Amino acid sequence: MTTSSPTNENPGASSSSSSSSSSVDVETLRRDRILSSKLYFDVPLRMVPLIYSSSYDIAFLCIEKLHPFDSSKWGRICQFLIKDGVLERSRIVEPLEASNDDLLVVHSESYLSSLKSSYKVAIIIEVPPVALLPNCLVQQKVLYPFCKQVWGTILAAKLAKERGWAINVGRVWGNIYHLLPQILSANVCMVMIIDLDAHQGNGHEMDFGNDSRVYILDMYNPDIYPFDFKARTYIDQSVQVQSGTPTQVYLEELDKALEAITMMTEGPKIAYYVLTEAGASQCKFLVAGNNFNPELVVYNAGTDILDGDPLGQLKVSPNGVASRDEKVFRFAKKKNIPLVMLTSGGYMKSSAKVIADSLMNLSVKRLIDLASPPLGT
Ligand SMILES: [Zn+2]
Repeated sequence: MTTSSPTNENPGASSSSSSSSSSVDVETLRRDRILSSKLYFDVPLRMVPLIYSSSYDIAFLCIEKLHPFDSSKWGRICQFLIKDGVLERSRIVEPLEASNDDLLVVHSESYLSSLKSSYKVAIIIEVPPVALLPNCLVQQKVLYPFCKQVWGTILAAKLAKERGWAINVGRVWGNIYHLLPQILSANVCMVMIIDLDAHQGNGHEMDFGNDSRVYILDMYNPDIYPFDFKARTYIDQSVQVQSGTPTQVYLEELDKALEAITMMTEGPKIAYYVLTEAGASQCKFLVAGNNFNPELVVYNAGTDILDGDPLGQLKVSPNGVASRDEKVFRFAKKKNIPLVMLTSGGYMKSSAKVIADSLMNLSVKRLIDLASPPLGT
């Protein structure tokens, strides 16, 4: 759900792209757009690779109340960190605004045109009353914050490559996964998506179904939306955690999953299949071989796994979320793979504090450094 593409559009492609020469033209045009983009600006070392913009937060005419989502979550996470003295506001990185050319890297012209219809936007964001609003308002108050978050993720990927880690305090939305490997194609060939949001990540699974550059570990609740059985066949490593799965079982399943990846990339070349049933949890590994060595981990750290979340339906405690995040960071650090963390979905007011506490835990364990050098360096 949180990683779903709005449509099955073919970004950057035109209707005349059926011939190989026009395909090359489309690729060349896309590459030129990427190379001339201002979005991937150099961030001074004194800034912390934590990305946020106040425009991430959606709040107008109370539409934020029409979706089960704490739309001011992102700002509150930063406020907790600033209040506790672990982060200085002036060190937070703000993404730039995407130009039309930037958007055309990810989306087709016809798709962008379709967003001039408030009705279409209402369908995409699952808030029907938005269909009744003037499109200029929708563009400014709904699409703009979403776009900023997506571009924040792209900048985070660049920063992670430079600093070893980066966090976008925002939500995954749109065709981010279309863009990531292309943006980084100059120095990243393989990407590992670790999707620990409670929902199955059917968007990126459909996008990368047969793309050998992308390895997908998805740990999700099969009892909730989106029930996308076709997309499930594209998951490289599927770990199903059913409704009611408690913290300990959840973390054990995660340990097994990360261990399987380690075996895959470090052990002898072997394809294996493991099926375990432990209480409410069922775990399935499909491992292809040992020749996958990712150069970037994209970690979807949704907090809708929290006990009490109305959509996630799992029973993981706040400390369990911190342990989960720590395990993923330790995994990436041990393997020396840059990691981009996306704070992503989570539908309770308590989520912001849980995320802030988890980031503080990562900082205490020296897996991230939110302090950074003194100003002026
Ligand atoms: Zn979710």
